[in-house]
Amino acid sequence: MLGGVRCRIITPASISRPRPVLHRFSRSKNSEIASVCGSTALLLHSSFKQVPAALGRVVCVRSMSTDATGAARVLSGNDASSDVKEELKKRVEALGQKLPGFRPGLAIVQVGGREDSNVYIRMKLKNAEAIGINATHVKLPRSATEVEVLLKLNELNQDPNIHGIIVQMPPDSEHYINPHTITDAVNPEKDVDGLHTMNEGHVATGDLETGFLPCTPNGVMELIKRTGVKIAGSDAVVLGRSKIVGTPMSELLKWHHATVTVCHSKTKDLEQKAAAADILVVAIGRAEMVKESWIKPGAVVIDCGINSIDDPTKKSGKRLVGDVDYKGAAKRASWITPVPGGVGPMTVIMLMRNTVLAAEKMLERLLQPKWNLRPLPLNIQTPVPSDISIARAQVPKEISQLAEEIGLMRAEVNPYGSKKAKISLGAIKRLSACKTGKYVVVAGITPTPLGEGKSTTTYGLAQALATHKKVNAIVCVRQPSQGPTFGLKGGAAGGGYSQVIPMEEFNLHLTGDIHAVTAANNLLAAQLDARVFHEASQTDAALYIRLVPAVKGKRQFSKIQLKRLVKLGIDKTDPDSLTPEEAGRFARLDIDPDTITWVRVVDTNDRFLRGITVGQADTERNIGPEDLLQHFGCQRSDGRAGPTADMNDMKVAFPGELQFYLAEAE
Ligand code: NAP
Repeated sequence: MLGGVRCRIITPASISRPRPVLHRFSRSKNSEIASVCGSTALLLHSSFKQVPAALGRVVCVRSMSTDATGAARVLSGNDASSDVKEELKKRVEALGQKLPGFRPGLAIVQVGGREDSNVYIRMKLKNAEAIGINATHVKLPRSATEVEVLLKLNELNQDPNIHGIIVQMPPDSEHYINPHTITDAVNPEKDVDGLHTMNEGHVATGDLETGFLPCTPNGVMELIKRTGVKIAGSDAVVLGRSKIVGTPMSELLKWHHATVTVCHSKTKDLEQKAAAADILVVAIGRAEMVKESWIKPGAVVIDCGINSIDDPTKKSGKRLVGDVDYKGAAKRASWITPVPGGVGPMTVIMLMRNTVLAAEKMLERLLQPKWNLRPLPLNIQTPVPSDISIARAQVPKEISQLAEEIGLMRAEVNPYGSKKAKISLGAIKRLSACKTGKYVVVAGITPTPLGEGKSTTTYGLAQALATHKKVNAIVCVRQPSQGPTFGLKGGAAGGGYSQVIPMEEFNLHLTGDIHAVTAANNLLAAQLDARVFHEASQTDAALYIRLVPAVKGKRQFSKIQLKRLVKLGIDKTDPDSLTPEEAGRFARLDIDPDTITWVRVVDTNDRFLRGITVGQADTERNIGPEDLLQHFGCQRSDGRAGPTADMNDMKVAFPGELQFYLAEAE
């Protein structure tokens, strides 16, 4: 023992022996501490000449104790995980240095309150706290339905302070909750359990870098690596094929170049197959099923099982055992994991490692100075073709790809088709620590003969900045006008070489403005129509009674009606005091239907709303007003197709009084 820690001395002789023996002894004058990590110190004998080479070999030597019951060395998950914990503490500290106040955030979602889940969650929270991870226990009641869990996950997916999310399985709900639906609802970029189909897919295809590796198999791989046993070319057998352990375990071994056999409940000659394994990983949930005879001499045995069995010698009357008969297997194996203290602690620490990794990726993206924009190639043609041909010649980039290139998170992008998307306002919160950019307003420009107006200048500027100058720049345009819908030039889609694509989608995409204007237009039409109808079919008295009804036997003018009375020159405030002539004037608008001209107003930028007189430009002079206005779908006030030449005339079609009735209607 050295200061209470276990030590193993390595001499050239002990290195050459197949199984170095653990010695317990005091520090002697001819040995020196080469490495102290966690609770184990490694002593190098002074006769050892090639220290660096030895260190290369001894990195994995911690926890190489020989089990008292047999020949196997104990592969301690406790020791291995405490090494990883130290490394993670440093990584978390480094994150805080990069962005003050930044800490990895982990959300552990639990449905119901299973006692075993409570124990696992407590363990995770404790580890998180020790490392510096901000872990939140999100509790949902047993009454929670799948939809409620999905809503909570969506909220966590959007939360910029949460970098990792796990749902403690199995959910303990009164309702059926599909575990696959739940694991797939976690944003893959926050899926620190590595159970999202996308992350599973990465592992299945041998891409062990892009996503997150599932915790238990990843922890097992760490343990196997610590034995120093060569995985490549070995025969590995995995007992169990579950989503969380068996299947990803076999894939990880395969991509570490082992030849893998996967066994399950329908496998024939299980014992024989297990006995062929250089590396045997057991995850079947059957207490001590794997016996000594199943173990190939010298094999590495990893026991993932956690089973509670009766043990009257224990205070609780229970004891935890693995899927392997430990005492028997230890006689033949070269390495074996204990239960507890083997795979369990590794699972927890791998979850922590994934969370730190997720936070590192997030911070990297946050602080990423440059977007990873990959501009589409332009095929410049001479002579310049028509706008629409140019627009159609370009195949737009998928919006999800663009979102990724500019550092948006998957959960922040709500695609609308494949070329458009809405961006969640949560992105603003996430990026709040970033330096604010510059907003360049391209204001009114008189178009040049080639048509470079506001749109072309705006897009051209962004293109020049982003593509050529490599500055993060993006264009913000309002919805298009309706010009192109009616086959007219314009539409805020740009012209010539600088265009918004796909042009048709952009121009025909009717957004809030147009709906609001259309609704107001239609409401006005309906009001006008109803007014004309009621006035034509009712007496003055009936109209008056409907406008000023008796409420609880009392008639009263509203504020707006009093204003109208003033406007009409009627100096009265008591509804019962009006003469029949005054009541008639008050109640009637007396709209002459022949004076009604219904104009088309299609959006807030419409020429009518802007009070623009048409037909005055040189290019329009030789076109008669009828032609022009018919083109706009308008009608003249005199009933003929096309109204008077000046569209401002049409404003008289909306008598001021009508507003009064609209207000009344509200
Ligand atoms: P699981 O979902 O129940 O899967 C068990 C697997 O074992 C299945 O593939 C099943 O085959 C197979 N199997 C069951 N009985 C068998 C038999 N008699 N012969 C051969 N194969 C058999 O369990 P799991 O989630 O993978 O967990 C397995 C064990 O690991 C459990 O004890 C669990 O508590 C433990 N575990 C530990 C950790 C940790 O952190 N240490 C993490 C996860 C799980 P079929 O597919 O044919 O049904």
